[in-house]
Amino acid sequence: MPIPMSATRSALESFIHAMPKVELHIHLEGSVSAATLRELARAKGHLDPDVAQWISAREAGGYRYATFMEFIEAFKFVALMLKTPADYALATTRLMEQFARENVRYAEVTLSAGVILWKGQPLEAVVEAVLEAAQSAERRLGVQVNWIFDAVRQFGPEPARQVAEWAGRYRDQGVVAFGIGGDEVRGPVELFAAVFRRARELGLRAVAHAGETAGPDSVRRAVEMLGAERIGHGLAAAQDSTVLALLRDRAIPLEVCLTSNVATGRLKRIEDHPLRRLMTEGLTVSLNSDDPGLFATSLEEEFRRARVAFSLSPGELILLSQNAARSAFLPRDARERLCAEITQTCQSPNRSGRLDAAPLAGLDHSNS
Ligand SMILES: [Zn+2]
Repeated sequence: MPIPMSATRSALESFIHAMPKVELHIHLEGSVSAATLRELARAKGHLDPDVAQWISAREAGGYRYATFMEFIEAFKFVALMLKTPADYALATTRLMEQFARENVRYAEVTLSAGVILWKGQPLEAVVEAVLEAAQSAERRLGVQVNWIFDAVRQFGPEPARQVAEWAGRYRDQGVVAFGIGGDEVRGPVELFAAVFRRARELGLRAVAHAGETAGPDSVRRAVEMLGAERIGHGLAAAQDSTVLALLRDRAIPLEVCLTSNVATGRLKRIEDHPLRRLMTEGLTVSLNSDDPGLFATSLEEEFRRARVAFSLSPGELILLSQNAARSAFLPRDARERLCAEITQTCQSPNRSGRLDAAPLAGLDHSNS
């Protein structure tokens, strides 16, 4: 007998909520919601008209961008609203609270250090404030985070080198990786090979947004020339079987961000994303929210949308969550603990606070 839609939705949402989750691709600046911008304005005692207009546009549902550059402008707008270390600390605290609400157990958060330097802000003071806010929230909420310092491709290699040096300085305080994002066309991979070599010398792991706005070759070169250990987005990889083979053979995980690719104009609909193909090709794929404040999404919402768009089974949702845990820049035993926690929670139907059997059964026999 078919399960009524409302019951199915509720079962789906409970299932996704109860499942311990790991977020690997989320930008602190892009996580800032309209509500947090209001809070920042209240703390300063005034709301600029352009910020008020921005907030109204978002609250009226303006979470899609006609072009990637329009999205970049939106990201820049929010980044410019973070004017002091205290603003960054507030953004961090609100993000940590969001993780706790969503049962995200571990996250690697990207800080656009390249944008902070570009704004002329004191990076050291911002980083200290962010790390302190994160540590305080970790103790309070039981969510663990590490950090990725990100450089902006279109700013070129010298600012990126500065970001890598800063990341190296904070390596013992939770900065685990160096990455690049932004415009793949104006900031091609070959500009950054030396910077990534330096980042590796500093003991940092390497990530790159690639195959988000450019083709499969951008993904190939990020792996071969930069030594990227994880690829942000990477959806263009599905266009080239040799790139898929490269990712599979070198066990390079992809951080898939479904809503992001629609909101920035790359895809018309989530259903157009090659998620299923990437999974059946044997790649390690995780789901991520990227810039939830700019896209009106969350990690739970990404799981829900993926399930609806691709008819994923409960087992496949669990696999996606475990893939994120496996792809984390954590020691092996910590990754294994996270995977075990996901398995245990999703397979222990009768323990208090754990998933009950009904949602699993309902999901197994429902296509919605
Ligand atoms: Zn991103």
